Order: sequence, then structure tokens, then C-alpha cells
Amino acid sequence: MMSFESFVRLGWSFFRTVLRGFFPRRSQLPRFEAQYRPDGVLTTEGPEVAVQDRAQRCFSCGACDVAALERGEFGALGPLGPMAFVVGVTRQAGLDLAVPGEVPPALVHALTEACPVRVPFGGLVDLVRRRRAEAEGASAGLAPRAQLPG
Ligand code: SF4
Repeated sequence: MMSFESFVRLGWSFFRTVLRGFFPRRSQLPRFEAQYRPDGVLTTEGPEVAVQDRAQRCFSCGACDVAALERGEFGALGPLGPMAFVVGVTRQAGLDLAVPGEVPPALVHALTEACPVRVPFGGLVDLVRRRRAEAEGASAGLAPRAQLPG
């Protein structure tokens, strides 16, 4: 059986949780980004969040790969094809992502049209380019870490 002390603690936690719900708190994301930006954490901006939200609907059906194959442009967004590009950007968001210099706008449009959930390929290409540039800028600005005496 629950002790009286546990009951009071549980009730107090419940009360605080309910009370917090009445007072919206400021997002701590800007503070987090400012703190960890020197370590290479990338920013998330409003338009980027919207693109990520839409792209995360990808359920790996492969329709974009088929559309790219039919157009003979399977490798335009990377050697593994458009689906791998989308999954890589939305699930991993690693710093090693890159896209070739030129991506035909007609292909980007065709891929979005072929996608049942309308993943915004154009927005994703822009996002990857911006993050790549940001990551390179951040790593160029990093001071070398101090060597521990060994
Ligand atoms: S067509 Fe859309 S949902 Fe299907 S794999 Fe490509 S991006 Fe994902």
C-alpha cells in the first residue's frame, strides 16, 4: 500500500504539473542554440522547421525513386536516390549531408508531385545547402581544443 509520504509527493507533483499548464513558458531553444553553437550545433529557423515537418511524413514508399529512375536522374540528389536523401535529412540530419551543385528544378517538382505525402524536395535541397554552409562556417570558426598532458 502507498505510504502517506508517497501520496503527498505524488499529489504535490500532480499539482505542480497542472499549475504549470496555466502559465506558458518561453521556449528555451534560442538559449540552447546560443550555448552550443560554438560546438557546431546548427540553428533551426522557422521556415526550416516547416520543411522538416512536411518531409518527416515520408514513409519510405519509394515512389520518388521510381519517378527519378523513369527520368534517368536517380543520382541527382545523391548516389542512393531521392528516398535515401529524404530519410537521411529528416531522420539523421548529419553534418555530412550534401547535394550536388545543380539539381534540375523540373526534377524537384516531379519528385514532389510523385510523392503521396508531397515531401518538399526543393525546400529540403535548400535546407541541406544552408546547413552545410553553416556547419562549415561553424567548424572553421572553432578554436582548437586544448591538448591534455599525456
Ligand atoms: S515518394 Fe515521398 S513518401 Fe515515398 S519515399 Fe519518396 S519522399 Fe518518402
